[in-house]
Amino acid sequence: MNILVINCGSSSLKFAVFNLHETDAPLWSGLIERIGTHTPVSISWSDQAQKVHFEIPACQHRQAMEWLVDKFDQLGITATLGGVGHRFVHGGETFRQSVLVTPAVLDTLKACLDLAPLHNPANFEGIELTQKVFPHLPQCIVFDTAFHATIPEHAYRYALPEKYYAEHHIRRYGFHGTSHSYIAKKARQILQENDCDGLGMVSLHLGNGCSSCAILDGKSVDTSMGFTPLEGLVMGTRSGDIDPGVCLYLAEKCQMPAQEISDLLNKKSGLLGVSGVSNDMRTLLEKEKEGHGPSALALHVFAYKAAQSVGKMMVALPRLDALVFTGGIGENSPTMRARIVEHLKCFHLFLAPQANHTHGKADDGFIQGPTSLAKVLVIPTQEEWLIAQETLELTGTRY
Ligand code: AMP
Repeated sequence: MNILVINCGSSSLKFAVFNLHETDAPLWSGLIERIGTHTPVSISWSDQAQKVHFEIPACQHRQAMEWLVDKFDQLGITATLGGVGHRFVHGGETFRQSVLVTPAVLDTLKACLDLAPLHNPANFEGIELTQKVFPHLPQCIVFDTAFHATIPEHAYRYALPEKYYAEHHIRRYGFHGTSHSYIAKKARQILQENDCDGLGMVSLHLGNGCSSCAILDGKSVDTSMGFTPLEGLVMGTRSGDIDPGVCLYLAEKCQMPAQEISDLLNKKSGLLGVSGVSNDMRTLLEKEKEGHGPSALALHVFAYKAAQSVGKMMVALPRLDALVFTGGIGENSPTMRARIVEHLKCFHLFLAPQANHTHGKADDGFIQGPTSLAKVLVIPTQEEWLIAQETLELTGTRY
């Protein structure tokens, strides 16, 4: 039997179908975008042989899901499905691991919707719609926050008065848990196969969103994102760490309302804010070559803060055995990896330029130089695979 993975966003629906018994790669996957925007909905659809793009008339999530079911029916996929796994961004303190969907779970989830107002309501709608179209299939929810449930209290608490934690649950939660969890498993496997230690690792997920994670014996013990996915590294459009005094200044001196400050920090900052031209790493690398100063500065700030974050994560570990790069930038940009590791010379981390250039593809992902104290790896993340795997385990789906 196959597992369907659904990641329902506010204007998108990402899906993948896996047969984990046969292969780790999805049999079919795709992305439906611009849902609910009054413009034609864009669809990318891949099977293991080809990728196609097309459009369907403007529609809401419900019609997009019905379109997907029709397509699955035509291709004979529906009958092969044994379970559905959903990505859910924020499970709060209640959901510390993946769960099967039950009416009681759905009721409790409703109380978590406000914790991530940009993501959780859309994730929830995805679950409700899937229940309608596939009422006979068991469904599982995998939380982005759950992998970080093992972070100790001294690392997840902010230095605020107790009542803000007790009454408002203000604490660090961490995100990108499915990616860091996958990296924890995969890196360990690669290190073991190569007779290397893998007790202490730092995973660096660098994509449009960016975060680091300290992994001790396979478990998260600290991470850079906090109460929201805004804390930590510089990202495509998110500022990452800034002095909270900046927000007070903007509110008091610039009379900016909360929503405007939120838009500034979430949508107009990061690489986009500093460069003034783009949130996209590839574009900025091109602009830098053309001599565009603000793009070069954005890249410098990005690399410096990412390296600083590695140092921060190392404090949570007894030793560093491996640093792992993942995400669109981490997997594909040798120059950004080199710039980050250049700042980590004080920890005796060094890259092998040739292995870095080829993303470690000929070397089981290893890109460290011969004198480096710790291994450095490039591992493509597979968040959907991890969700499928958890779903398989929880639903007990048989092949
Ligand atoms: P993600 O959110 O993981 O899809 O990553 C998106 C980011 O990866 C964007 O900033 C892209 O520009 C960046 N990216 C993808 N491919 C490359 C590449 N070959 N070189 C540099 N950056 C890349």
